[in-house]
Amino acid sequence: MKTGRNLAITDVRVIVSSPGRNFVTVKIVTESGIYGVGDATVNGREMAVATYLQEHVAPCLIGRNAHDIEDIWQYLYKGVYWRRGPINMACVGAVDMALWDIKGKAADLPVYELLGGKSRRAVTTYAHATGNDVTETLDQAARLISEGFQTIRLQSAVPGMEGSYGVMGDKKDYFEMQSSRPLPPEQPWSTRKYMNSVEDLFRQARARFGPDVQLLHDVHSRLTPIEAARLGKMLEPYDLLFLEDAVAAENQESYRIVRDHTTTPLAIGEVYNTIWDCKDLIQNQWIDYIRTAATHAGGITGLRRIADFAAIYHVRIAPHGAPDLSPICYAAQSHIGLWAPNFGIQEFVGFGSAQSAEVFRHDLRIENGMIHVGESAGLGVDFDEEAAARYPYKRSYLPVSRLEDGTLWSW
Ligand SMILES: [Mg+2]
Repeated sequence: MKTGRNLAITDVRVIVSSPGRNFVTVKIVTESGIYGVGDATVNGREMAVATYLQEHVAPCLIGRNAHDIEDIWQYLYKGVYWRRGPINMACVGAVDMALWDIKGKAADLPVYELLGGKSRRAVTTYAHATGNDVTETLDQAARLISEGFQTIRLQSAVPGMEGSYGVMGDKKDYFEMQSSRPLPPEQPWSTRKYMNSVEDLFRQARARFGPDVQLLHDVHSRLTPIEAARLGKMLEPYDLLFLEDAVAAENQESYRIVRDHTTTPLAIGEVYNTIWDCKDLIQNQWIDYIRTAATHAGGITGLRRIADFAAIYHVRIAPHGAPDLSPICYAAQSHIGLWAPNFGIQEFVGFGSAQSAEVFRHDLRIENGMIHVGESAGLGVDFDEEAAARYPYKRSYLPVSRLEDGTLWSW
């Protein structure tokens, strides 16, 4: 396809680096010298995405007009025999982000201006408070509140189950948990012990912080629909902003049962790759927040489509913001968050480690729990390839969960 203002793609570089975490970064270069960057990280499967990009996607992009974002999106989505899936869609997402970055630089405008301009001054976030017991979790929440965060996700290890629930004990990160043998670490789980302990976390939180702080909780897909329905009812007196991933929803219909029994708002979507994964959840109004990430659900173009569809059904976006999303994804989601009329909240766990700051330079700034986006053209984030070379890829996995009898469970 030829258009009036051709900006031919001359190079597609794929860089896997590990500045604190593994990241897969795409850099698309055009004949004018303008380049754009995108995040293609799929945690625990980084080399699969990198190979897919290098071997199968990059050759198809050379010579194409970088301005044709929609056509390239359709070419990589509809034009392949194997549609959807996390590996393919992370590649689509990374290429899409890089093309929006290029278009913004070519137009000398921040990406949010291209999307329709600002709907708000800044992007409200929620922070994580996690501890080995309720007191440790709430002390951490108090620190975050004193820093200006007004919405906090609370997680506490289940009593008697050390290391449960993403609580890492004395380990500072997942690399440390698996350094001697890079295989998935294992963590224990008991739904009964969890259900017997979780209410106390929120009872104590409300008693300590009062009604104004917004609280939420991530179930990590560990419950059945009827268990999730019971948890939602149990937590109604504590007025959560939302309950996240209460049930795995490959079968979206499962959420009807949860919805029928509780008024606690529901959120899901961080592992979804397309609008189709959340179509029934949204159009039946079984959820309140859709949590798809720009990296994993087709980039800015994919997220924009999901946001517009969700708006019709009073569903707001609350994009995923885990440490395995690079600052490029954070930037892309911050531009969407500034624009989307139905933006809800952005998950925030910091912009990454000191090493990450050497590799990714960005003009995002967090203040009083809100991300402020700078005026730079494009996404406002740059990637230093020389710095990245100092942090080579290290194989790493997230943990898996097992019940006390050894049965593998959702993490
Ligand atoms: Mg989550």
